[in-house]
Amino acid sequence: MKILVLAAHPDDEVLGVGGTIKKFTKNKDHVKIVIFATGILARRSSSYNNNTKYKIDEKTSTLTKKQITKLQKNAKDAAKILGVSDIEFLDLPDNEMDKLTNLEIVKEIEKIIEIFNPSIIFTHSNSDINIDHRILYNATITATRPTPNNKVAKIYAFETPSSTEWNFPNTFSPNYFVDISKELVSKITAMEKYVDEIREFPHPRSFETLEIIAKRWGTVCGFHAAEAFQLVRELKK
Ligand SMILES: [Zn+2]
Repeated sequence: MKILVLAAHPDDEVLGVGGTIKKFTKNKDHVKIVIFATGILARRSSSYNNNTKYKIDEKTSTLTKKQITKLQKNAKDAAKILGVSDIEFLDLPDNEMDKLTNLEIVKEIEKIIEIFNPSIIFTHSNSDINIDHRILYNATITATRPTPNNKVAKIYAFETPSSTEWNFPNTFSPNYFVDISKELVSKITAMEKYVDEIREFPHPRSFETLEIIAKRWGTVCGFHAAEAFQLVRELKK
């Protein structure tokens, strides 16, 4: 089986689907991860407060490129722990995917689907505070619209700790749960690779919180630890 994970930023794939990815790869399924934005906010000139136009000096540009390369290395290392070697980076502007048209993002997704031909897609939830997450959700729904040629049978939306839970009052309402009791350790170990993204408890991106979230969803569905998803669409032939 081919599973496609569409994540806006490096670390979203671990936070939202890490345990489930591991479960698929243990089962010898092919998981491909595509990360759309860089995960590094564009640094602007010091006059940014008065000037919204991009003006990045060479030194800052070099530093930004270094940070992006480091984050991509973290993402590859994390993916390896989850059993994934197929990871692609589109390098779109971070937290500014709204600078692109919906059509441009849809075309990217359509291209990936045509080549990879997944039967399941995981992407962000629409109940999310982050603009890139919502844009990716909308573009995914458009790119997979059920035409006669569509072969994507299932689309699931994942939560992203440190983003989804802050979208008051439109909360994430999952209806699909995956038992990750045996994969939680791999999820946490994969997250350890993102050294600059991890925070101290009680931040949602702390190791302790990730464990609490998995156990909390476990209490909802009778597993010791779980990842929760919204089934967005399922097509059964
Ligand atoms: Zn994100």
